[in-house]
Amino acid sequence: MITKQKGTMDIYGDMAKKRQYINDILVSLCEKYNYDYIETPVFESSELFHRGVGETTDMVQKETYDFKDRGERDITLRPEGTAGVVRWFVENKLYGNMTDPVKVFYNEKMYRYERPQSGRMREFTQWGFECFGSDDVMSDAEVVSLAYNAYRLLGLENVTIKINSLGDNESRNNYREALINYLKPHINELCEDCKERLEKNPLRILDCKIDAGSDILKNAPKTLDYLNEESKERFEKLKNYLDLMDINYEVDTKLVRGLDYYNHMVFEVVLDDSYALGGGGRYNGLVETLGGPSTPGVGFAMGYDRTLLAIEENNINIPINNSIDVYFLYVSDTEKETAAYLTQNLRLNGFIAETDEMQKSLKAQFKSVDRFNSKYFCVLNDEDLKKNEVVLKDNKTKEEERVNINDLVDYLDMHM
Ligand code: AMP
Repeated sequence: MITKQKGTMDIYGDMAKKRQYINDILVSLCEKYNYDYIETPVFESSELFHRGVGETTDMVQKETYDFKDRGERDITLRPEGTAGVVRWFVENKLYGNMTDPVKVFYNEKMYRYERPQSGRMREFTQWGFECFGSDDVMSDAEVVSLAYNAYRLLGLENVTIKINSLGDNESRNNYREALINYLKPHINELCEDCKERLEKNPLRILDCKIDAGSDILKNAPKTLDYLNEESKERFEKLKNYLDLMDINYEVDTKLVRGLDYYNHMVFEVVLDDSYALGGGGRYNGLVETLGGPSTPGVGFAMGYDRTLLAIEENNINIPINNSIDVYFLYVSDTEKETAAYLTQNLRLNGFIAETDEMQKSLKAQFKSVDRFNSKYFCVLNDEDLKKNEVVLKDNKTKEEERVNINDLVDYLDMHM
């Protein structure tokens, strides 16, 4: 038997319906924020993700699915959404003549070669959004507010937004120096990976899963102490906007996020202080890194699968439809032909209609009526059909009504 790959899943049944429901909520919310939907390719040149995400990140060093295609090109499966969207932005020269920010959202499969566990898959979905062109703190606040409102609309009232600032390049570099100097004498007490990170990507040490909780990291210098005046002022402004918008947040001075491209605001959404349900931040250097002119950007990505797990764990009810509107039962060939016509006609008019496609006995067809939880059923009968009539029965009350076939759609419209 061929089985699915480790860290992947089939999405079907009630789970598929729940995801569709959540998707509808998120799409409609993004529209309220005037964000447009975008899809980018699942595979891109390796250079895009390696350069965009950062050669020194764990994601690029250990997690990307890299391969050569049949034309010997270096290809990578999309591990995150931002780099592809930035590539689209630069390739289409959307930076020219910007009078308003360019705002887009996506809902896409991502691929990372990680050790699979609950909430950590190799193929997973992120819903995310990006805003290009504005360096105003107001757009940082808007991105946080869109993320925050998404979780609230999904019923996850107890989420907390953790925010921090890495500051501008000058502040970030000063902090980097200070962190290296602080960590150097302790390096042998850190894990093997962190030893390597010290020179290449010291900020990443702060969110190392192995060394998390160690006193060394607890006492490490804080980014906020290294912000220059401008960056400090910017962070204060952000907090002020978040207060004005009634967004529940906490400053977390240890938050740096694993990717290379962030500056100024970084944030994460956590539930009950457990794992992150999503994260984002400002990335003013990324468009330039990927070949465009210097353009500010800010964005967020929600872990869709983890968010759904959290919804399940918190017993939040997601309404899913497990019923149909009408089931047509038949015996003769002419009745079957009418069933074919009526199901097609009702479906076209917005009803969920079903009939037998397995040559079942009438008794077995009645079982299908209940299995599909049909609101109405209709036993087609050649005698009635000669008069162009059907007898429609309410499956709950068992009340029945004789209806002219031409009036069936109107009748159902009035009764449902
Ligand atoms: P990141 O792009 O790493 O900032 O991730 C953003 C969000 O995506 C995280 O907060 C998680 O909720 C989710 N996520 C990241 N990696 C995985 C994974 N391997 N499986 C499932 N969800 C993930």
